[in-house]
Amino acid sequence: MDLTSSHATATMTHRTPIATSAANRDRFRFDLLAEDKRTWARRGRLHTVRGVVETPAFMPVGTQATVKTLHPDEVRSTGAQIILANAYHLMLRPGADLIRDAGGLHRFMGWDGPILTDSGGFQVFSLAATNKVTEEGVTFTSHIDGSRWTMTPESVIDLQLTFGSDIMMQLDHVLGLPAERSAITDATERSSRWLERAIRALDQVQPGESSAVLFGIQQGGMEPDLRREHAQRLARMDVVGCAVGGLSVGEPKPVMAAMLEDTTPYLPREKPRYLMGVGSPEDLWHGVARGIDMFDCVLPTRAARNAALFTDDGRVQISNASWRQAHRPIDEHCDCRACTQFTAAYLHHLFRTREVLGLRLASEHNLRFLARVMQRIRDATVDGSFAEAGDAFLDRYQAARGQESVSMPNRSVLAAADRAVR
Ligand SMILES: [Zn+2]
Repeated sequence: MDLTSSHATATMTHRTPIATSAANRDRFRFDLLAEDKRTWARRGRLHTVRGVVETPAFMPVGTQATVKTLHPDEVRSTGAQIILANAYHLMLRPGADLIRDAGGLHRFMGWDGPILTDSGGFQVFSLAATNKVTEEGVTFTSHIDGSRWTMTPESVIDLQLTFGSDIMMQLDHVLGLPAERSAITDATERSSRWLERAIRALDQVQPGESSAVLFGIQQGGMEPDLRREHAQRLARMDVVGCAVGGLSVGEPKPVMAAMLEDTTPYLPREKPRYLMGVGSPEDLWHGVARGIDMFDCVLPTRAARNAALFTDDGRVQISNASWRQAHRPIDEHCDCRACTQFTAAYLHHLFRTREVLGLRLASEHNLRFLARVMQRIRDATVDGSFAEAGDAFLDRYQAARGQESVSMPNRSVLAAADRAVR
């Protein structure tokens, strides 16, 4: 299922890893294949029982066991190697028993590649009407029908095992920001204790019963020292990967960049790092530059359904009148079906007439765009041109947006600054 095609990637295939995590040798392995010299960009490869994931990777989101509007074959054709589903949503509807009876999540939704399931911590704290946190877990009211539910670190592991997830996430205590520093400390420490319980719960599972592996989640709000301490604590835990949570929640981009710079240097080099809920084209470059290997976000498909398409020149609104007579592809360089078989004028027409095909083609295009961005990132990391390629992409992509800009980090400058502080 090798979907990568470039020469640079092909030559990586037989490269000896410079670091590897093989704690779960038969179920999961991460090979670190190359590191950029100027930034923290990394090129790696995840081995799961359901296939290989070339990293850095973007994971399309299938919250309700579907990547909205797309057939699994279409998702695969965009270059997606792994997808994300959400334990909270699937627990409420259709329910864990139904998915178990269907033969697991892969069979139920017709996706045979790796699936990462989010624990639902974020959804409990953002969607559920009333939630009550105790040391035991969190009790909340379903946003669908008002029923009461409880999630504990152990029940969330059970749930994801029932689904047959390949990569499971721990239950964490997510806080809305702004919050008091003491509340952030409290939630962060509770998340660590909950991770210890999740690890113990997974230890009870007999070998051969499941091939699922567990990632821990690092939190700490926008407090650099809390982020750093929690990263150091997570680094000592018996998990196969480290996620960074609680970012991209409305903070300015330079703040997210600073938080990552206070996090990733303290995470184990040999384990994959996953930045949760981040997936705008510019944030992918910024995240990789700061040592991230995996991303997920609803943005590409949600934006697509709102007629917003990614191009190298930034996001365009295909429903705008300026596209009415654009008898050319949305993006001349894109190899997706929207761009190779149809014109921008046709897509404009589909959105103006609210035709369903428009949503599908736009979703396919945006996912393909991000997959091509990730390919460019992987190739540039290997050939030593990551920082230049990132600057070139961002200059062009952001030119029209007027966003607060973030530049490529320079690891030698930052390392010197870090030493000076201590
Ligand atoms: Zn396209």
